[in-house]
Amino acid sequence: MTTTTQTHPYQAEVARLLHLMVHSVYTEKDVFLRELIANASDALDKRRYLALTDQSIAAGGFEPAIHVTPDVLQRTLTVADNGIGMTKSEMMENLGTIAKSGTRAFLDGLGESETAAAAIAVSETPGANQIGQFGIGFYAAFMVAERVEVRSRKATAADAWLWASDGASGFTIDPLAAGDALLPAGAGTAVTLFLRDEALQFLKDAEIERVVEAYSTHIQFPITLVADNDGRQLNTGLALWAKPKAEISAGAYRDFYQQITHHFDDPALTIHYRAEGRSDYAVLLFVPTTRPFDLFDPSRKGRIKLYVRRVFISDDADLLPGYLRFVRGVVDS
Ligand code: ADP
Ligand code: MG
Repeated sequence: MTTTTQTHPYQAEVARLLHLMVHSVYTEKDVFLRELIANASDALDKRRYLALTDQSIAAGGFEPAIHVTPDVLQRTLTVADNGIGMTKSEMMENLGTIAKSGTRAFLDGLGESETAAAAIAVSETPGANQIGQFGIGFYAAFMVAERVEVRSRKATAADAWLWASDGASGFTIDPLAAGDALLPAGAGTAVTLFLRDEALQFLKDAEIERVVEAYSTHIQFPITLVADNDGRQLNTGLALWAKPKAEISAGAYRDFYQQITHHFDDPALTIHYRAEGRSDYAVLLFVPTTRPFDLFDPSRKGRIKLYVRRVFISDDADLLPGYLRFVRGVVDS
């Protein structure tokens, strides 16, 4: 049987975002992996939540996992999860339009002109080169890939689907044969990037490790690097700030402090709390015992790490006034 696959056009805003992604000379292209892992983590969260109430999802034992698999011969990088998965119509909706506020805010911030977009991507001016500060989402994949394939089966659904796009002309969705090698067993999603010539470094274990360490180390589900049929877990899955205070020992606070500051002293003061309400956030701050050598350097920046739902966003978010620039720690919103 031969069927002609229909190419679906992207929503106009997606096309604009993709143009920017593909043509940007933005240097921190590695945030694409942060975005794909964040999506995998969201999908695992959703499946875990559903499994609480739906026996058919819980059945068979659900071990949440994220696999990152480079394939040097095919020049592909695949990020797979056994999360909630997508139906055909969800693929259509989610991977062709922009719903999320972060991406929208980013686009709005660019204004209408493409040249402004290009300028932001290249600009040396402080604060301008900030694509990475936004949750730019799935489409970030096209910064490093000339083609992206998404294989997915929704939990509880029998059929699986293949979404594919070169980031320019639109996308296709086709049925996927059962037993496809990349599709996670049971349910879930595999995003496969066909890397551009200038992005082949992301096939290297060390590079993948570096990027996961930089952005995704506190993701709560195990992230495994699969190389030569061998798996190695890359993250600790330990977001200390997300745990209840009662469960954290002084030693655990100290280890975390030393890990994020690379200091060897003990924190003089540890501040840990969670705010809930119209906006939810967790705060874990430390005052060092030893005085930083550049304490009185007015250009010394704040050192509070900003996370959004355990995903690293920025090292120098201006969250505290300048005179508190010796305070170290994490804010997660
Ligand atoms: P956001 O994650 O902020 O919603 P993205 O552009 O990153 O925006 O992703 C768009 C949507 O695509 C997600 O909201 C989700 O519905 C769907 N999606 C992306 N990746 C996955 C995945 N691995 N599993 C299930 N759904 C996914
Ligand atoms: Mg996302």
